[in-house]
Amino acid sequence: MAHHDQTTYDDQNIFAKILRGEIPCNKVAEDEHTLAFADINPARAVHVLVIPKGAYVDWQDFAVRASAEEQAAFTRMIAHVAEVTGIADSGFRVISNIGVNGHQEVPHLHMHVLGGEPVGRMVDRG
Ligand code: AMP
Repeated sequence: MAHHDQTTYDDQNIFAKILRGEIPCNKVAEDEHTLAFADINPARAVHVLVIPKGAYVDWQDFAVRASAEEQAAFTRMIAHVAEVTGIADSGFRVISNIGVNGHQEVPHLHMHVLGGEPVGRMVDRG
């Protein structure tokens, strides 16, 4: 994937198109500020993406520019997704890939929520 400038939001990214309803998603939950939908290429039995509805490139952008209300909604939606997908009790992992070294492919902030089976070690230690 192409490098993206963390300060410039590309409104043609795939999640922006999902938010505008231009392409479909398998919705898990939604509130005023946040959308959760199934990852199209799931890495575990449960693999949901949680995104803010606002135009934020990544965690750094969201932390600086998003309102406290948006940040609270995002935090709570991750917990809600774990509850409604039935993975809260057995445990799960939340990951956000950021920028080049983080191997972020889609330049709209997203948290991966993974579970439903063992997720494995935190990262490959190579
Ligand atoms: P990342 O490397 O963190 O940017 O991950 C991007 C994620 O988006 C990958 O897990 C993809 O499988 C997922 N993805 C890409 N396109 C779609 C789509 N149209 N609907 C749902 N998930 C998608």
